[in-house]
Amino acid sequence: MKDIKSKIEYIKNNIMTIAKNVERNPEDILLLGVTKTVDVNVIQEAIESGITEVGENKPQELQRKYDVIGDKVKWHQIGSLQTNKVKYIIDKVTLIHSLDRISLAEEIQKRAELCDLNIECLVQVNISGEETKHGLKKNEVEGFIRECSKRFDRIKIVGMMTMAPFDADDNEIRKVFKGLKDLSEYILTLGIKGVEMRELSMGMSQDYKIAIEEGATIVRIGTSIFGSRNK
Ligand SMILES: *Cc1c(COP(=O)(O)O)cnc(C)c1O
Repeated sequence: MKDIKSKIEYIKNNIMTIAKNVERNPEDILLLGVTKTVDVNVIQEAIESGITEVGENKPQELQRKYDVIGDKVKWHQIGSLQTNKVKYIIDKVTLIHSLDRISLAEEIQKRAELCDLNIECLVQVNISGEETKHGLKKNEVEGFIRECSKRFDRIKIVGMMTMAPFDADDNEIRKVFKGLKDLSEYILTLGIKGVEMRELSMGMSQDYKIAIEEGATIVRIGTSIFGSRNK
């Protein structure tokens, strides 16, 4: 089994090659290490091996790890976020990838005010329309972003996030990623106050190559760095 360092180097090399093939700058693509269920000492090893930002999906786990590792790495909240858990992460995260409902935006706004912070968020979109997936439906996104822009001055929407369907073939996956990119370009044309579309968070261990080809700026990689999760 390859060690963490060589796995990270391997993925970074892949990112570089894929980006160059589609005439993109590899520096525009962030390798986000997904560290859910990964022990703190292994995360430390990943940081020493060149991981600069990590994603967690459970707020209390993020908090616990943050208490040990702190700002040696940037922290992202990925995956669905319960409203009552915003308080654990609000002053620790660089980016929330899973803004998908007004009640969550209200809570982020409230907590951000209390800490006097502005919080960058991605709108999570369910492009594939799968029932089991979190995220807004495509046709809800414009209205949602307009409402956030009007009501929540502490929230800065900087892009969008999606997850590809589980057992889909490459064509279907590509369609989903292209769908997110097209939607973000459409939103940008609306010129909504305070809204940027600089980030597209899409692609995981199985499908990051396609995601980069379709314009991902953040790929979220767990298994390919840390091995399979059995916790
Ligand atoms: C777990 C997770 C990932 C990483 O998935 P891998 O297949 O292990 O790379 C990416 N994004 C989200 C939202 C996740 O929950």
